[in-house]
Amino acid sequence: MNEIVNHQREFFKTGQTKNLMFRKSQLLTLKNALQTHEQQFLDAIDSDFKKGPFDAYATEFALIFHEIELALKNLKKWSKPQKVKTNIPNQPGRSYIIPEPYGTVLVIGAWNYPYQLSLVPAISALAAGNTVIIKPSELAANTSKVMAQVLNQVFDPKVLSVQEGGVAETTQLLEQRFDKIFFTGSSPVGKIVYQAAAKNLTPVTLELGGKSPAFILPDTDIEVTARRLVWGKFLNAGQTCVAPDYLLVHEKIQEQLLDAMAKYLVKFFGSDAQKSGSYVRIINTRNFDRLTALIDNNKVAMGGKTDRDDLYIEPTVLRDVSFDDPVMQDEIFGPILPIIPFTSLPDAIEMVKDREKPLALYIFSKNEFDIDSIVHQLSFGGGCINDTIMHLANSYLPFGGVGNSGMGNYHGKFGFDGFSHQKSLLRKGFSFEPAIKYPPYSLEKLAWLKRVMSIS
Ligand code: NAD
Repeated sequence: MNEIVNHQREFFKTGQTKNLMFRKSQLLTLKNALQTHEQQFLDAIDSDFKKGPFDAYATEFALIFHEIELALKNLKKWSKPQKVKTNIPNQPGRSYIIPEPYGTVLVIGAWNYPYQLSLVPAISALAAGNTVIIKPSELAANTSKVMAQVLNQVFDPKVLSVQEGGVAETTQLLEQRFDKIFFTGSSPVGKIVYQAAAKNLTPVTLELGGKSPAFILPDTDIEVTARRLVWGKFLNAGQTCVAPDYLLVHEKIQEQLLDAMAKYLVKFFGSDAQKSGSYVRIINTRNFDRLTALIDNNKVAMGGKTDRDDLYIEPTVLRDVSFDDPVMQDEIFGPILPIIPFTSLPDAIEMVKDREKPLALYIFSKNEFDIDSIVHQLSFGGGCINDTIMHLANSYLPFGGVGNSGMGNYHGKFGFDGFSHQKSLLRKGFSFEPAIKYPPYSLEKLAWLKRVMSIS
């Protein structure tokens, strides 16, 4: 570990990664490797948790290729020094902000979208001119292996290196000094990473999880709402950081919504989701056991079937759930959707306000006043009005959490900025200078200073 980090650090010092052509060629290397080995990558994810080619392309490769194209197209603009205003005390002068790469960075990925969660940050890091070490999650063992095999073959390890491993190897990596750490995973591990980074004052981006609510208000379009909720929750079998974790549904429409959701579950996955090619499996037995323990059979409105040998949990909806139920204590991260009925929107908002700030929040309604009141009263990473998940797919929006759901953000230009230090520079000539700046000081000079500072 130490050797790889040192080699990258030495290489960074040569300044070669600051060259735009160099950065572009790294992005193209990644693009070519993914295209050339596409089948290998698709097979690996299918063997990790039965994720089919459409699903894998839509939720992994489409985003990765889009980010590469966006970076290639905008690299020159993003990396250009930006001229800003110069205040009166600094006149005559000119001011600039120059984005510069941090140096050698570490990207730690989660397993649930194993390619994009490791590679999209790596794209931002390379585009910004850093060298990168990627540590994918060991839980998606086949995708981790294929990334290491393919990328370690095509990249110079001084520029990008994939290091496989679990807790022990990650702990060892975290003992090294990095110039930036980008972590995706759970909040408890996020705290471990933050502590390790603090030892070297290394800046971090933490992309964490949490319980993301969806508010379903009585005036919503039930059909469209049900379709988008069922899609967003059961995509990747609920193992999505921004999946709606639970629904806050106006009690008037709980029955109608349940009927519509049952219809879309059959439309999407057939009458037996276990036989569907569009429904993935739980990543391992530990998570399977954790999830099945959360299914309260007295509250099952649909689903509930499980098969441990196949790591299969049927899309499951629980009705009439309360905040005290076990399923409401931690992030679910699986295909179980509790519905908490409410009668008063202000009360429902208060219940969410009392909890950790979520990574995502969704609102289904046509009522502008209610939508505004939720958006303005609650703090959350990001979200959608009348949809789920899709805000993540717009690279013009920063993606990240707040409070317990994370810090910092990425995607598109935000990712580039996240891997860049904003160096500020004031340029002066030699000609003119106000004498007021220099001693001896006087009351007249003080009065002048106060006047000037109030203008700028
Ligand atoms: P995790 O925190 O268990 O693991 C994430 C990474 O940290 C893995 O690479 C793992 O090897 C490493 N790791 C685990 N324990 C460690 C330890 N003790 N010390 C050092 N490194 C350690 O998370 P996960 O199970 O892979 O992913 C699920 C979680 O990630 C959920 O909470 C989910 O919401 C969150 N998540 C967030 C985002 C986001 O973009 N905000 C995306 C996906 C997943």
